[in-house]
Amino acid sequence: MEKEKKCGVANCKRKYYAKGHCFLHYSQVRRNGRVYSRTRYDKNKVIHRDNYCVLVLYSGYKEPVEVARVKIDKEDLAKVSEHKWCLHQKNKKCTRIVTHERGTNKLLLLHNIIFNSASGKIRVSFTNGDKLDFRKRNLTIK
Ligand SMILES: [Zn+2]
Repeated sequence: MEKEKKCGVANCKRKYYAKGHCFLHYSQVRRNGRVYSRTRYDKNKVIHRDNYCVLVLYSGYKEPVEVARVKIDKEDLAKVSEHKWCLHQKNKKCTRIVTHERGTNKLLLLHNIIFNSASGKIRVSFTNGDKLDFRKRNLTIK
């Protein structure tokens, strides 16, 4: 009896495809010559601190690299982690934490999710000046 083939990447539970890998890892090896530890489809990593959570943001088309860490209140983690968040930097002054709404591809801003803004148009200022600190005590609606 032939043993069921598995993807050769540790902890990968995807279906076997070819050359010792699942389709995703097979494609990575074919395109890039190696397997990456993260893909752009993976969710943000979450680090749990005593009183808040840290959301790790990545960028990069091939191997995602960490670009920022965002603080959020623990109570907001459930709704925030429904989305994949990215750093959107137009220039030095304008840093936004964004995601794309599933289906519509509309750009959503993190503070609008945190404040449950249906219009998605509220603006906030950051009390302590840290624009990556999205804990509500640091945010004031303008
Ligand atoms: Zn795999």
